[in-house]
Amino acid sequence: MFADPVAIARDLVRCRSVTPDEGGALDYLQGVLKQAGFAVHRTVFAEPGTAPVDNLYARIGNGRPHLVFAGHTDVVPAGNAAAWTHAPFDGEVAGGKLYGRGAVDMKGGIAAFVAAALDYLQAAGGAPQGSISLLITGDEEGVAVNGTIKLLRWAAERGEVFDHCILGEPSNVEAIGDTIKCGRRGSLNGTLIVGGRQGHVAYPDRADNPIRGLVTLIAALQAPLDQGSEHFAPSHLEFTSIDVGNPTVNLIPAEARARFNIRYNDRHSQTALKTLIEHRAEAAAGKVHFAIEWQPSNADVFVTKPGPFTDLAVAAIAEVTGRTPALSTSGGTSDARFIKDYCPVLEFGLVGQTMHQTDECTPVADLRTLTTIYRRIIERYFG
Ligand SMILES: [Zn+2]
Repeated sequence: MFADPVAIARDLVRCRSVTPDEGGALDYLQGVLKQAGFAVHRTVFAEPGTAPVDNLYARIGNGRPHLVFAGHTDVVPAGNAAAWTHAPFDGEVAGGKLYGRGAVDMKGGIAAFVAAALDYLQAAGGAPQGSISLLITGDEEGVAVNGTIKLLRWAAERGEVFDHCILGEPSNVEAIGDTIKCGRRGSLNGTLIVGGRQGHVAYPDRADNPIRGLVTLIAALQAPLDQGSEHFAPSHLEFTSIDVGNPTVNLIPAEARARFNIRYNDRHSQTALKTLIEHRAEAAAGKVHFAIEWQPSNADVFVTKPGPFTDLAVAAIAEVTGRTPALSTSGGTSDARFIKDYCPVLEFGLVGQTMHQTDECTPVADLRTLTTIYRRIIERYFG
């Protein structure tokens, strides 16, 4: 390899880029990419009530096709740094592994696609057959309002058109090459509120206990939502909290609440799902007075259907690792939910086992393997 992914990953880990701090990580990437001939742009996005966040967009080439690699340099906090075997921001390599916060999620992934792109450009005489871009945010692990969602809009306003995207999030479960994420379930949060009449617990006939109604509705809303679909497991509603807030032993409260989250598949839209839940609650409510408050959600379900781009990625992975990756839609949300509005997106990166944990680490060999895979993908894409 012309560029060393391990050195780049180590340098990135040494930047303390805990969300929303840039920590020098984007400055570092800007230096590396500029030197390789990329046009690099930095944009800070902000809005009331959130911290401003630094983002980076870099492009080389003017033509099509246009392949974009996406990722985030921000990391979650280290937690108790003393509990780490190797300090979380030192980027130590020991026993064949690179240790540090972000090694897996996802500075290692960024290092691999940067090294792969640099190596390809070196071999191609400095310019791609089409265009290669990098879309890097510092706001993925936080509220994700001043990151990829705004960076994509900013790029579109500049006239940038993307054909395909690879998001370098840790996608593999056990070994590199076992899983591509080709979609994600949607996520929706709601609060079920049951109203009653406050009263003395010794005279329940003079009160109306909302807890009874809440229990009935909770039971009704836990019925299955569907049987799954071609690309997805069944949707799932899970209650996360029941809140009455009553410190008194002899008082029937006036109101009871329960919060829930739904992870839903492509059998539902957000609107249809809300209607379904509201109808189920109405059907079970009888005389119970209830309301459901929905939180706004920007995590819609999506799937990138199998096709030439997926085939290309699968073939490159199989060629390098000998594994045929599963196409999975499991797990939580990611910035792919925003990218999918602009072009087809696949997620493929390192093995996710230690992400967000104490002693987050990746085998150095995996960094090199991932770089080789990205390199093959680029070559096939422009070949
Ligand atoms: Zn991540």
